[in-house]
Amino acid sequence: MGTNPDASGSAPPSVPFRTAVVGAGLAGLSCAQLLREAGHEPCLFEKSRGPSGRAATRRGDGWACDHGAQYFTADDPGFAAQVRRWCEAGVAAEWTPRLEVFGEAPDARRRDVPTRRFVGLPGMTAPARWMAAAHQVELCHTIDALRRDHGAWRLRSREQGWSRQAFDAVLLAMPAPQAAVLLQGVHEEMARRAASADMQPCWSVMAVYDVDPQPRFDAAFVNQSVLSWVCAEHRKPGRGGTPCWVLHAQAAWSREHLEAPPEQVIEALLQAFQGLGARAMPRHAVAHRWRYARGTLADAPPALWDPSSGLGVCGDWLCGGRIEGAWRSGQALARALELQPPRRSACLAAG
Ligand SMILES: Cc1cc2nc3c(=O)[nH]c(=O)nc-3n(C[C@H](O)[C@H](O)[C@H](O)COP(=O)(O)OP(=O)(O)OC[C@H]3O[C@@H](n4cnc5c(N)ncnc54)[C@H](O)[C@@H]3O)c2cc1C
Repeated sequence: MGTNPDASGSAPPSVPFRTAVVGAGLAGLSCAQLLREAGHEPCLFEKSRGPSGRAATRRGDGWACDHGAQYFTADDPGFAAQVRRWCEAGVAAEWTPRLEVFGEAPDARRRDVPTRRFVGLPGMTAPARWMAAAHQVELCHTIDALRRDHGAWRLRSREQGWSRQAFDAVLLAMPAPQAAVLLQGVHEEMARRAASADMQPCWSVMAVYDVDPQPRFDAAFVNQSVLSWVCAEHRKPGRGGTPCWVLHAQAAWSREHLEAPPEQVIEALLQAFQGLGARAMPRHAVAHRWRYARGTLADAPPALWDPSSGLGVCGDWLCGGRIEGAWRSGQALARALELQPPRRSACLAAG
């Protein structure tokens, strides 16, 4: 992980508080970044072996593939400034694909709408890895319980048991259904909100070829098909290597085939790709099921924060979905903590 200049230059607050951020995706990292800039001490807990969550890259023998988030856009000025910092640091770049649209788009998605798209460099995990370098991140920690003791929070991880550290606040930065499970019996109102978010699945197939099967376009939105999106991963900026295409299934199809064997999913998606003109079969294909790929919660604030209990929640689903929404939700939660700080527990204030 490289040196992250975002980590420096902050003025310490009069009373720094210790915060546990559970989930090192872009929402959690964005929240931790702003807390740190304000002089606090966030500590991140992440169940995977690396940060970045659904902005994910899978690597194989000579190939690499972003099998989760494909690219990001930046409409919000704050997020646009963050994207500029990523680009200057060499962990993101603008992507100008030759885009195709198949079928009639229900949301009138058109080729002539000018949209600036960016990708992580050399993969979609790069921006999050760069941000994570500024923080204490406890990897391979699956948090499965929260407990409040004498006004301070402790976390239990499946791998390590109860944390020795105590925290003034716990911030959950993960898909809504996973947050709902942790909040049950801890904060019923937040648990109810998280449980009511609509999160859709997505089957993703990574197909590795000896010869590029489709040189005519770099990526395509696909409507009225099993597929929703296909993309030549090896042609994104900074990639190269063995031809590799990612194929994403429609949400409704993914839901219907959630428990289908991966071979069946691979076959269905490859067949649909052939329908778009793919001229070869891959030498290797692997499927990944995203149970909670994308989601939103209607009429929700961009983050949930209860200063009296010291519990907060952020994530893409609270802020319109997507990477930009995740980043903005994390910022909103950190700002809420600044405005209404958590009550300091007696033991933490003393220590
Ligand atoms: C197939 C697919 C395609 C997508 N395409 C795009 C796209 O093109 N553009 C776009 O902008 N967005 C896209 N998205 C959405 C984008 O990936 C998300 O909006 C964004 O990455 C969400 O960030 P987050 O931090 O809110 O959540 P996540 O990235 O899910 O991060 C949550 C983190 O919490 C961790 N975690 C969960 N539970 C626990 C626990 N109990 N203990 C510890 N850690 C835990 C997870 O491992 C994860 O790292 C796509 C997503 C998918 C799946």
